[in-house]
Amino acid sequence: MKILVPVKRVVDYNVKVRVKADGTGIETAGVKMSMNPFDEIGVEEAVRLKEKGAATEIVAVSMGVPQCAETIRTALAMGADRGILVETDAELQPLAVAKLLKAIAEKEQPKLIILGKQAIDDDMNATGQMLAALLGWPQGTFASKITIEGDGITVTREVDGGLETVALTLPAIITTDLRLNEPRYASLPNIMKARKKPIDNLKPADLGVDPKPRLTTVKVAEPPKRKAGVKVGSVAELVEKLKTEAKVI
Ligand code: AMP
Repeated sequence: MKILVPVKRVVDYNVKVRVKADGTGIETAGVKMSMNPFDEIGVEEAVRLKEKGAATEIVAVSMGVPQCAETIRTALAMGADRGILVETDAELQPLAVAKLLKAIAEKEQPKLIILGKQAIDDDMNATGQMLAALLGWPQGTFASKITIEGDGITVTREVDGGLETVALTLPAIITTDLRLNEPRYASLPNIMKARKKPIDNLKPADLGVDPKPRLTTVKVAEPPKRKAGVKVGSVAELVEKLKTEAKVI
């Protein structure tokens, strides 16, 4: 079974994001970029399936600027076998990514595509669902556990107030939730080995897709600054302040 794992290059989750002075987006110049954390979980799950003998090949796909190749190298160092870079300077929105992934899926014929439930930069939570619709494949989103059984896959989903288990027939789309697994760190020997693994370089036109954005960003703004709190000396003082200052009781 071949598994396709889309991996997005995003601002590292440890970085405090700054809004550009003109409000058109966030500052990315000189900022540390890493693989989207939910995609690390996707790569880890694919590697575990390969280690168990349930998968034969893992293909990592990243789309965007040429530096997305570094994100693919990270996936290769974690255990993916080869990579596909779809290079473009265009702003890529979920529908364009889903269309590009559909074209790659038609070429590669994977049995499983494991995406992150959302990219932590745009928080769209849309690409996996759009891809499932475009391909006409079943989808198991927000997966916290997956089990392959013959030609099917059982997915436990984190839903409000509990867990839902769904059974899908392969080929299928999975999107990962935080508790699916804990991704491994790539070892130095595996980082070295990853350098020799192949990465194909494509352009959106090679896949017959026009990645034109459908949404226009009107404005990006910082959240309002919160006022500093005060420490109260006693419960009586707290109650007094809630009555007279906050006027909430
Ligand atoms: P989103 O719908 O933007 O929140 O992204 C959900 C998932 O789609 C991500 O976790 C990735 O697995 C995949 N994805 C989105 N954009 C890209 C991209 N430019 N390159 C590779 N994968 C992507």
